[in-house]
Amino acid sequence: MTANTSPAMSFRRGGTAAEEAEKESNANSGHRGRGADYFSLKNDGDSTVVRLLTDHDDWIYVEQHSFVPTKPGPKDAEKWPKAMTSVCRRDEAFAGHYGDCYICDNKIKNSFGKVASSRIRVWALAVERELVRGDGSEELGGPSKKGVLVGVRDKIDEIDELDAQGKATGNKLSFPRILVINQPMKGFFANLKALHSLYGSVCGRDFSITRDGEGTDTNYKIVSIDPIPDLVPGTPLWDLYLQAVAEREISLEAIVADKASDEYYARFFDPTKTVDKDGTITDATGTQATGAVAVGGAMNLPSSVPAAANAALPDGMLSQIRALGTPTG
Ligand SMILES: [Zn+2]
Repeated sequence: MTANTSPAMSFRRGGTAAEEAEKESNANSGHRGRGADYFSLKNDGDSTVVRLLTDHDDWIYVEQHSFVPTKPGPKDAEKWPKAMTSVCRRDEAFAGHYGDCYICDNKIKNSFGKVASSRIRVWALAVERELVRGDGSEELGGPSKKGVLVGVRDKIDEIDELDAQGKATGNKLSFPRILVINQPMKGFFANLKALHSLYGSVCGRDFSITRDGEGTDTNYKIVSIDPIPDLVPGTPLWDLYLQAVAEREISLEAIVADKASDEYYARFFDPTKTVDKDGTITDATGTQATGAVAVGGAMNLPSSVPAAANAALPDGMLSQIRALGTPTG
């Protein structure tokens, strides 16, 4: 073919068809695998090491309902949670896009019998890391370093590579383990905020985090580990973290928005609605609920936070719920 010859082109056209094609293409994306895990230290004294990927100014904060009892699961569900956390559909981020919040509107009680009022909770991404101690071998510093901290490394997730049809190829892809952290300011992010004041960033070093206490009386002790000059924002190693987040299609904004979606509320809480395998929502009478229809929702940054939360939230902390498109059902 020469430069002067036009190939016979037949572009596919139409918004609805394009949307379908995009869904299909996303579902078959080769690197798609397990998403992020939630940061969780269950017992008093448990600890782990993390490298925050989301710095102080980019932490997302929203009104959340915690320990909300779930409705009965579908008959074929193997496991079904007793209670779930949700993002309040009246949060400012959604700018009134949702006309309701099933949990607020019905004064649903939490697992402890109290009305599950919403509270400010904060979100960030991190890589889970682990301490490396010398074992006496030359590779890890020789006998003099036995039992001594010699470094910090990523925990790794092995994810099945998928072919164009979405079937496992047998290859395993290795990615740093990405954690979603969803915690209050008090007892958790406030401690990180203090470290941010000290260092100007919470991404420039690893932190060892240890759970101290149980239930609502929990504080997380956070200890800084010496910085690693090759692994700070702007370095090639740091860019590999950002690539891993992109390759695994992990979006903090999308994760937060999903917890306020029509589908999420219909699946876990609202007994008058059901969700089928394709995510279509129907109400109890069997007609498609209006909530399942996508409406373009402007996502606004909260211009202010409630007075009670202000005390604990740093100045200039902007919620970055943006580029979400439509929180569809
Ligand atoms: Zn609510």
